Amino acid sequence: MRRKLIAGNWKMNGSFSANRLLLSEILAGVSTTPACDILVCAPAPYLSQCAEILAKSAVAWGAQDVSAHPHGAFTGEVSAAMLADCACRYVIIGHSERRAYHAESDELTAQKVLQALANNLTPVLCVGETLEQRESGQTNSVVAGQLCAVLDVLDVGQLSRLVIAYEPVWAIGTGKTATPQMAQDVHAFLRQQVTVRDAAAANVVRILYGGSMKPDNAAELLCMADIDGGLIGGAALKSADFLAIVAAV
Ligand code: PGA
Repeated sequence: MRRKLIAGNWKMNGSFSANRLLLSEILAGVSTTPACDILVCAPAPYLSQCAEILAKSAVAWGAQDVSAHPHGAFTGEVSAAMLADCACRYVIIGHSERRAYHAESDELTAQKVLQALANNLTPVLCVGETLEQRESGQTNSVVAGQLCAVLDVLDVGQLSRLVIAYEPVWAIGTGKTATPQMAQDVHAFLRQQVTVRDAAAANVVRILYGGSMKPDNAAELLCMADIDGGLIGGAALKSADFLAIVAAV
């Protein structure tokens, strides 16, 4: 049985005071032994605040991006070692907003995943198709290309440490959600891509769904066989919504 993971992606939102309130409300609503893993991915300046507030709690914290380089003259970048220094356990990599607005390639994404793993961080690798790609029947080839670029650089031991997030671009922040069956079909296809490399790893790799997941639709998505959790944007900024999704597990 794969333990489910409910991950909040705060994107570029928050402040010290807003985060303190949100995190205290989340902590108040989460049991000390929750039924799933819980994660918040905060902007880099707030990771130390997360470490301070969430230390010894059942809620983990992580970052939203990481440099593909270990250290050095890369102005503005944050290394995986720095994230580990902030006691992050996870980092989102290859989010569609990074791919679209920062022209991140599959190759760059793969290098970031390697940096994360080398620093004992769990990469949450995002893949997903645009509406145009879905409508022209390219969903599987697009997500396979994004995933395989990463699988190609990993050895068998590293495969099982990956978390994958399927986030159809047309469902992100739009209120449009993939139906549970549409999501399940892509999740099963993604797991099959991992099975080709290593069947045991494919069994343990968690595949999250992201794209307008909210209290209303979380339960029906989370009960699908290959949906192992959620990567939640908008609804992660409201403690009641985030806690309701955790409760849906
Ligand atoms: P959303 O964002 O839940 O607001 O659609 C999800 C994401 O981009 O990770």
